[in-house]
Formats: sequence, structure tokens, C-alpha cells
Amino acid sequence: MGFCHGVRKSFDTVMRLGRELQFGESGKGGQIREIVMLGDIVHNKDVVERVEQVGIRTIRSIDNIKGKTVVLRTHGEARGAVEELVKARNELVDCTCAIVKEVRKKALLLEKRHPAVVIVGMRNHPEIVGLVSWLANPHIMMSEEDIEALPHYRSVGVVSQTTISAERYESCIELLEDKYGKWDEVAGTGAEWLQTICGHTRSNQASSVEVAGDVDVMIVVGSRNSSNSTKLYEKCLEVNPNALFVRRLAELDLSAFNPAMSVGITSGASTPDWIVEEIVRALESV
Ligand code: SF4
Repeated sequence: MGFCHGVRKSFDTVMRLGRELQFGESGKGGQIREIVMLGDIVHNKDVVERVEQVGIRTIRSIDNIKGKTVVLRTHGEARGAVEELVKARNELVDCTCAIVKEVRKKALLLEKRHPAVVIVGMRNHPEIVGLVSWLANPHIMMSEEDIEALPHYRSVGVVSQTTISAERYESCIELLEDKYGKWDEVAGTGAEWLQTICGHTRSNQASSVEVAGDVDVMIVVGSRNSSNSTKLYEKCLEVNPNALFVRRLAELDLSAFNPAMSVGITSGASTPDWIVEEIVRALESV
């Protein structure tokens, strides 16, 4: 529970930079540069606030950003923005998760073998916005309706957003195989897909669903704007109608719990450990 390893690494890096900033050690050659975070570090307001408390401002646009230290978030950044930032002599601290970068590498590899790459994911999610920018001919799909709009190709490469559910990815692959055929390496036709769902997401979903099926109440801790946390809640709700989705302790009605109840707790990848621990402590004292 708490942060996944990708978010943990980004958060620790940003906290270290914040400490260096406070002690005047930031920037090359001993110069103190302002440190800014491009976009929210993750989709969690509490984490964003913690980053701002150490003096790192979140910016939404790269206009007029010059000579600063710019942190690239866990979800990755669009290629054009990275190039602009470098041109404007900013120092970049790349906190893109290694798994997100791995998906980019796989998509670029598929692009060498196919005229187009189909990405199964949410069009406006920062990870997808970033991934699309690195590819020559990407298409995004998330549902059966999207398939109609895809042009005809001899073959396509297929990857997914790292945090979608395995079932959603599988059903989209089936639709793509219906449209383009199964991948035939010899003929060079069909839909060639690669496994790109993050291992943390898969194992967290599987173990959370297992626990949810065994308890009276299942609590999913996370932000509603976190796709990962929302999916986790939906999965738990499928097996337990008493699943609750809360961002923090204040949203939980503790009077509804009693010591005879069995309660499971899980959290999305961007949920901080300190919020989960606070909820656990409060429930233990009921
Ligand atoms: S959920 Fe997976 S892909 Fe996303 S940041 Fe965490 S480790 Fe990386």
C-alpha cells in the first residue's frame, strides 16, 4: 500500500531537491536556481501540496520558463515540451517512471515494424499525451466505438497505458484482432500487441480484489482524478458492494464501523503512505 516504486522514486527525488533548495545547494556550479514541477507530480492533491511546501512550485505551462530547474513528472512529458525546455537553457530532472519509459521504447520498436501504433488508453491522460508525442503515426482507442475510426492497415503494433485494467486491454486486443487479424510474423500482417501494463498495477488490482471478496467493507484510498485509484475502486466494487472510495480520513464515517467488522484497505499507486497509515490507525482504534 502507499506509493508504487515509480511514484516513490519521483517523490523522494523532489523532496531531496526541496531540501537542497532550502540549504542553497541547488543548480550547477553552486548557483541557486528556482525549481519548478511541470504539471502535478502525480494525481493526488496531498502529494502536490507536500511538494509545494518544500518550495517547489507546480507550473502548468512552459511559456517564459528559462534558466530554471524543471522536474518532469512520473507520467512523462511530451517530446515538444522537453525540447523547448532544453532550448530555453533549463536544467531538467527527469522523474518519468522507468516503466513509462519502457512502454515508449516498446512503442518505438513496434513503429519500426508497423505503419501505425494503436495505444489503448485515455486520450487526455498525461502518460498518453506524452507517449503519442514520441510516435509518427499513433492512434488512441479505449472502446468498441473507437475501432470504427481506425484506418485500414496491413498490420498495427499495440501497447497500452500502464495503469489500465488487464480485462480492458484484453477486450481491446480482441477487437483489434477482429479488425486487423492476429499477428502473423511470416506474412507481416495483423495486430502485434505487447504487454505494457505495469506489474504493480496488475498485482495490486489482483490482490485487492481478492481481499475485497473476503471482507465486510473494502476501503480504497485515492484521488478521484487518479485513473489508477478509480479503476481499483471499480474492481473492488464489482466483488464487494460495500467498497468505499475515500481520499483521506476525513471522508470516512468512523461511526459506521465496529470491532466485529472485517475491513480491507488498499490504495492507488499515487496515494501517499501517510494517508493510508492514518486511516489504518483510526480504524484500529474503533
Ligand atoms: S503505477 Fe507503475 S507505471 Fe505508474 S508510476 Fe507506478 S510503477 Fe510506474
